[in-house]
Amino acid sequence: MALIVQKYGGTSVGNPERIQNVARRVLATQQAGNSVVVVVSAMSGVTDGLIKLAKEVSPSPAEREMDVLLATGEQTTIALTAMAINALGGKAVSLTGAQAGIITSGVHTKAKIANIAPRQVRKFLEEGNVCIVAGFQGQTLEGQITTLGRGGSDLTAIAIAAAIKADMCEIYTDVDGVYTCDPRVVPDAKKIDAIAYDELLEMASSGSKVMQSRSVEFAKKFKVPFEVRSSFNNNRGTIVKEESIGLENVVVRGISLERKQAKVTITQVPDKPGTASRIFTALSEANVIIDVIVQNVSVSGTTDISFTMGADELEKLGPVIDRVAKEVGAGEVIKKSGIAKLSVVGIGMRSHSGVAATLFECLGNGGVNIQMISTSEIKIAVIIDEAQIEHAAKLAHAAFGLAK
Ligand code: ADP
Ligand code: ASP
Ligand code: MG
Repeated sequence: MALIVQKYGGTSVGNPERIQNVARRVLATQQAGNSVVVVVSAMSGVTDGLIKLAKEVSPSPAEREMDVLLATGEQTTIALTAMAINALGGKAVSLTGAQAGIITSGVHTKAKIANIAPRQVRKFLEEGNVCIVAGFQGQTLEGQITTLGRGGSDLTAIAIAAAIKADMCEIYTDVDGVYTCDPRVVPDAKKIDAIAYDELLEMASSGSKVMQSRSVEFAKKFKVPFEVRSSFNNNRGTIVKEESIGLENVVVRGISLERKQAKVTITQVPDKPGTASRIFTALSEANVIIDVIVQNVSVSGTTDISFTMGADELEKLGPVIDRVAKEVGAGEVIKKSGIAKLSVVGIGMRSHSGVAATLFECLGNGGVNIQMISTSEIKIAVIIDEAQIEHAAKLAHAAFGLAK
């Protein structure tokens, strides 16, 4: 008998028929002789709808209240899923994040899991129940409701699988697995059979939202292998696991794109020790996540520094950047939104040359201008105009021979 965690995302529980489909799949898994814990998301569109409602009553709602509100999305789905299983003659109980023992930090709307004490999960499983746990939510030690950041149900599933030492963790979604690129953008993208944690982590944190990046980080840290697959068929999905020799043979595993980015250039920054630190300390104190940073060669004692961030962040941050640029005695501040990032990812890059050349060549031939470049051991990313991102993704996908 195996202990299995299954997570169903928003589309998979998007209406009553789909919840009944999930109920049938879960019962079939249990009837095959397994113990099953199910983690569910809010029905598709519900979380966005709740955020919109909040904005209608308040321009900047308190984050504590946002968490109380957003947690209702998943709470609806756990009850409906348990009811659907019971209606089919099965035995299921729903548990909120708090009841499932998920203890988090107190950072509302992006809390981190601190500990899991799944006492009730174990007890209900022993009594022959399917446990239906609300994804995306937890509580602090003081009993405050928290949420784990957008896409956080993935994290709930991986963390519960680690805590109860599940034999298998299955992430059910609306695509057959992790593809070489978002199949909505590149129609001939191919399903990947197996991928290393580090590769999916790079892809997820550079825009491939098929898995929440923090959930992949958690899986890597606690060595939880998992499979991403479809809730609408029985096809094998993508196995996500530690690196192995076979995985290293592929140079480029996949391509991600991230839209809605913004670029800031501060010109004529005095080229002396401590200046960059003053600029980026001011930004980090404002809690902005800076992505790519490029500093030019210094000419006559000054240099230009460019960096990117989410376009929404720039709206909030504009005044802070203007202030700090003035304080350090820099020149102009040029702000530009409407840019995007394309990343090419693969652990095989560590031991292969020519990936950058192939990428730059295909973009150049296709008329895509590269504004910034950033690399890591297993990734090459370029900043380009947002209007060209889909074209660029298709060019790179073809250049690296990733198509079906
Ligand atoms: P869920 O609601 O099940 O959590 P998500 O919408 O969060 O599902 O993630 C699934 C979606 O991720 C797919 O519909 C697909 O458009 C998108 N996606 C982005 N990049 C990829 C990729 N490389 N492979 C597969 N899907 C991807
Ligand atoms: N419902 C949450 C969201 O839309 C969490 C999730 O679906 O994973 O972000
Ligand atoms: Mg998701």
